[in-house]
Amino acid sequence: MSSTTEPIIQSPPSTRTLLLLGPPGCGKGTQAERLARNFSIPAISTGEMIRAEIRASSELGKIAAGVTITGGLLSDELVNKIIKSRLSQPDCAAGFMLDGYPRTVDQARYLGELMAGMGFSQPSVVHIDVPAEQLIARTCNRRFCPQCGSIFNLQSHPPKEAGLCDNCHIELQQRSDDCEETVKNRLAAYERSTAPLIDFYQSRDYLRVDGTRSPDVVFQSILDSLH
Ligand code: ZN
Repeated sequence: MSSTTEPIIQSPPSTRTLLLLGPPGCGKGTQAERLARNFSIPAISTGEMIRAEIRASSELGKIAAGVTITGGLLSDELVNKIIKSRLSQPDCAAGFMLDGYPRTVDQARYLGELMAGMGFSQPSVVHIDVPAEQLIARTCNRRFCPQCGSIFNLQSHPPKEAGLCDNCHIELQQRSDDCEETVKNRLAAYERSTAPLIDFYQSRDYLRVDGTRSPDVVFQSILDSLH
């Protein structure tokens, strides 16, 4: 149990549809979990959806499994069919939260029509924004102990003795030497694919949240801004 006080919980409205956007490392996973719990709605990621279809051995699941095994990319058409199937499940009746879908403006248009057709209100888009330099610092200051697996962060959670594991007193390691380069490339790819989506949603129900603050503050500010 954490000792931090939980923010005030809002009572859920009849339906709540959310769409989460944010770069890798922005803390989206934590917020997704807390929002889903707060509103009692399922958190649906593309991976979760596809795994569910494959588990159910549905027609779509079989096609998706085939594409995944050969290392191919799922087409818009297939992903759209899978989302339609997922949103038709009973646990989505009171709403849902999407993470990782839509990825393209075409998918976003499809989702808008699909939701309207199913009687859902259009989604509130929550964009967790963290500047690139900070994401690079968060990720690249991470160190781990090769013996016990403890994770440290030179900035936010440094070891007691510089460079050494608190438990084993052996030298901490970094996952990759070209961390900054790797993270920069990953962020650039994210920007390229997400910028058109942000353009698309900006004129709609769009909320930009400053993700540089603590998870509690970010969570509370999302709740405060949702209507
Ligand atoms: Zn250790």
